[in-house]
Amino acid sequence: MSEHFQVVVVGGGPVGVGLGVALGLRGISCAVIEPRSTLSRIPKGQNLTQRTMEHFARWGVVEEMREARLMPKGYAIGELTAYGNLMSEYWHAPAGRELVRSFYSQDNERLPQYQTEMVLRKKIEELKSVNLMLGHVAGTISQDANKVSVEISREDGSEQRIITGDYLVGCDGARSSVRDQIGIARTTQDYEQTMLLAVFRSSDLDEKMKRFPDRSTYRVIRPELEGYWQFFGRIDVPDGWFFHAPVPPDSKLETFDSLGLIQQAVGHPVACDFEHLSFWQMRVAVANEYQRGRIFIAGDAAHAHPPYGGFGLNNGLEDIVNLGWKLAARVHGWGGDKLLESYSDERRPVFWDTANDFITSRIKRDAEFLHRYNPERDRAEFEAAWKGRETDIGSRFQQYEPNYEGSPVMFGPPGGKNSAHGVHQVKARAGHHLAPVPLSNGQLSFDALGQGFTLIALDADEAHVKALADAAQALNIPFDILRDTRTDGREAYEAALVLVRPDQYVVWSGEALDRPAAELLRHCVGLA
Ligand SMILES: Cc1cc2nc3c(=O)[nH]c(=O)nc-3n(C[C@H](O)[C@H](O)[C@H](O)COP(=O)(O)OP(=O)(O)OC[C@H]3O[C@@H](n4cnc5c(N)ncnc54)[C@H](O)[C@@H]3O)c2cc1C
Repeated sequence: MSEHFQVVVVGGGPVGVGLGVALGLRGISCAVIEPRSTLSRIPKGQNLTQRTMEHFARWGVVEEMREARLMPKGYAIGELTAYGNLMSEYWHAPAGRELVRSFYSQDNERLPQYQTEMVLRKKIEELKSVNLMLGHVAGTISQDANKVSVEISREDGSEQRIITGDYLVGCDGARSSVRDQIGIARTTQDYEQTMLLAVFRSSDLDEKMKRFPDRSTYRVIRPELEGYWQFFGRIDVPDGWFFHAPVPPDSKLETFDSLGLIQQAVGHPVACDFEHLSFWQMRVAVANEYQRGRIFIAGDAAHAHPPYGGFGLNNGLEDIVNLGWKLAARVHGWGGDKLLESYSDERRPVFWDTANDFITSRIKRDAEFLHRYNPERDRAEFEAAWKGRETDIGSRFQQYEPNYEGSPVMFGPPGGKNSAHGVHQVKARAGHHLAPVPLSNGQLSFDALGQGFTLIALDADEAHVKALADAAQALNIPFDILRDTRTDGREAYEAALVLVRPDQYVVWSGEALDRPAAELLRHCVGLA
């Protein structure tokens, strides 16, 4: 007998379990297949953005995530960059994500991925419509016009059976078998670099870091690294650390001098008690499509890249927040196939820009800087240029504003493109994340958004509000209305009517309806 689910998720890493939570909260029946019963203790995916914390707040786990942090409450999350080594006289610790804090409703956070996964796994267990199938692996998948089928078994091949779904999402990581089986190729960038990952305890290193303001990550750059970094991150305070750094491609773990490399990056002898050592390959690879028929890919299955800037997990979670409500809309009958297709249209260009302009080009820019300026050649010139970089580093947080101005299911500006580049603004612009403003009841507008579409009506013409509400009801679209005055900060939206979709992106805004309400809504749910 085969079991049927509305959505089958292959891979229960943070992205797959996150999708299970997002779907379960919308009442979708869902299986999440994952071999790992216990969580790996490698402290990756630590740097969680304000946007990611918004997802956790909406899933009802934000307090649990903050409780699960290993760093002391309030400890600075930002980054420090040093030239040459960590004892250098040249270093800067510029402002980080706090520069864009006011555009989001949550503070950013820092915790190891295994802690995040632990909280998500606990949450998923509460959701009756979701079956987290730990200890299971997915094999062959197939699809026809009506359903997908997947062979699952225990890891030793026993208890083989077939489960079916209306849709399937491959969240099975960078080596995704789902992606390979549906024949989606990846575009890779032509640089590849072997990296060391070391996890260790060192109170000596903490002592040395006392020369700096509190920071969670420390980047060492120098000319011979060609723009790559030697990178230290705190796991806990005072002595829990990870380190990654480029190493020669023929390095062997058994003979590699990890302690020597760490001491060189620190610029001073430090004792380290190693808990984990491994090598990994740094590459950028982005899938050429994120959908084939009823099958989608998300997270590292869709895009793999070096952990420079903390984009992997954060982007993976944004993928499934984008896809989750669309799958639910389609399954519940109020979203069209075009809505599902918009997942790839919206998310893929954002990641492509992230890889090119926020990861690869940063490596290249660092390399160019380090070749051009050198304190041993011309100290004054280097010092002036080094000072100039400080503001440049902070500005990347302001420029990273993923938006879907070119989405086929929004009303962005003419010629708009889906992109990771944008400008943070409170103005409610179609294609952009809704910035929070205070409501007169003391809540933030963002926190008051419903699970479905929300119309924010600020001293708006009631005839237009009613037209949209009636059209939503006729189309069966879940719809909430937030009425308020257009004063006390709310005028910053620069619109009387702001229509926000379930992933908190503005789809349309204006002073008055500029087309029939049903036409507007049908476009936004992929029915037009
Ligand atoms: C050193 C390091 C530091 C990082 N730091 C950051 C950071 O600060 N911020 C950030 O955003 N990102 C960071 N990342 C990236 C982040 O860890 C990844 O982007 C994240 O793990 C992606 O999650 P995922 O669920 O898509 O994939 P994965 O975590 O790879 O999970 C995939 C899951 O699929 C399962 N699976 C595979 N095949 C099958 C199958 N056939 N059947 C069933 N299940 C299967 C696997 O068991 C696994 O659990 C870092 C990565 C590294 C290596």
